[in-house]
Amino acid sequence: MDRLVYLDHAATTSARPEVVDAMMPYFTKEFGNPSSIYSFASKNKDVVEHSRGIIANALGADKEEIYFTGSGSEADNWALIASAEAYGDKGRHIITSKIEHHAILNTCKYLEQKGYEITYLNVDEKGLVNLEELESAIRCDTILVSIMFANNEIGTIEPVAEIGRIAHAHGTLFHTDAVQAFGQVPINVQEMNIDMLSASGHKFNGPKGTGFLYMKKGLLLKSFIHGGHQERGMRAGTENVSGIAGIGKAAEIAVATMDERIKKETMLRDYLINRLMKEIPYIRVNGHESKRLPNNVNVSFQFADGESILIMLDIAGICASSGSACTAGSSAPSHVLTAIGLPYEIARSAIRMTLGYENTKEEMDYTADNIKQIIENLRNMSPLYQEFMQPVEKHFQS
Ligand SMILES: *Cc1c(COP(=O)(O)O)cnc(C)c1O
Repeated sequence: MDRLVYLDHAATTSARPEVVDAMMPYFTKEFGNPSSIYSFASKNKDVVEHSRGIIANALGADKEEIYFTGSGSEADNWALIASAEAYGDKGRHIITSKIEHHAILNTCKYLEQKGYEITYLNVDEKGLVNLEELESAIRCDTILVSIMFANNEIGTIEPVAEIGRIAHAHGTLFHTDAVQAFGQVPINVQEMNIDMLSASGHKFNGPKGTGFLYMKKGLLLKSFIHGGHQERGMRAGTENVSGIAGIGKAAEIAVATMDERIKKETMLRDYLINRLMKEIPYIRVNGHESKRLPNNVNVSFQFADGESILIMLDIAGICASSGSACTAGSSAPSHVLTAIGLPYEIARSAIRMTLGYENTKEEMDYTADNIKQIIENLRNMSPLYQEFMQPVEKHFQS
């Protein structure tokens, strides 16, 4: 069986052919360094600025507010650590949520070691941050609120504009990790009260090892990588010109095709969810029914182990995930599924399938057919399930 059904677009995506085409010249013919003075290098400078303009446009931001980075993780680290350093005089308290990506959570841990205090907000059973809890957590020494735009495991879209409004009402900055949201759903940093935003190229059909940080004009954040004066002195290191050409092209296509992709992915997502719900008993869809990324399916199958489901899906050529890629391989249930209150066994039985522009309805059918068979097989091997299925009287027999 050499069929491949890729349903792990939250982990990474393929670079679109147009993206690769846009990148290629800068590896070979147009290899100049954007910092060089001669005209041979001017095309390199131009393409970096062209990509910056596309991304700024996509966000309703100014070009001068976009800084290229080497990943989404770097943008997250930069936003948090540089805010902590720039505003440490005002206070040393930061608010985030329990369901953030590890690029945020582990950076917060690092800042805790440096003497900062972090409040990790709870989320409800759908994965939403509670706005009243947020408001009452803000103190006079709170310098930053960092809440993700959309969750990478369960796809829940947070009330970002409201979070930003509350942060600003209390004189606090607002950063959002929009790595899962950029290119998937419309974002306007002004309307949504966003001061800083992180994104990553390889999550929206751009190249790996690219990302950017939007940083509103006037913020006091300093450079994160020290060295040359690239990115207006804010991020040293010779620009990844081909990567920046690629992330710009990917952003351009993501914006141009967004409406059509949202429609198609939502249709496929709901088709797959409905088939699973109709045909397999004792399952639970994790996340929010409507405030959800168009491409996210996260389902728990009671009496079946998530890792075992993934292995059997892999045999059928289907790529899915049990949580975030960063926690794959460890047997602890995901911190996100724990935060939405799932009991250990239900969290352990969850799988995530995330769709992309290439997926088809036929693939959803193939996937649903396989999952149905796999769950049946696993449950037949499960002593817990066998016991659960015994007629009630039998429980009372000795
Ligand atoms: C993938 C991801 C990141 C990390 O981005 P990289 O470019 O892979 O470093 C950060 N946050 C979220 C929500 C993600 O999904």
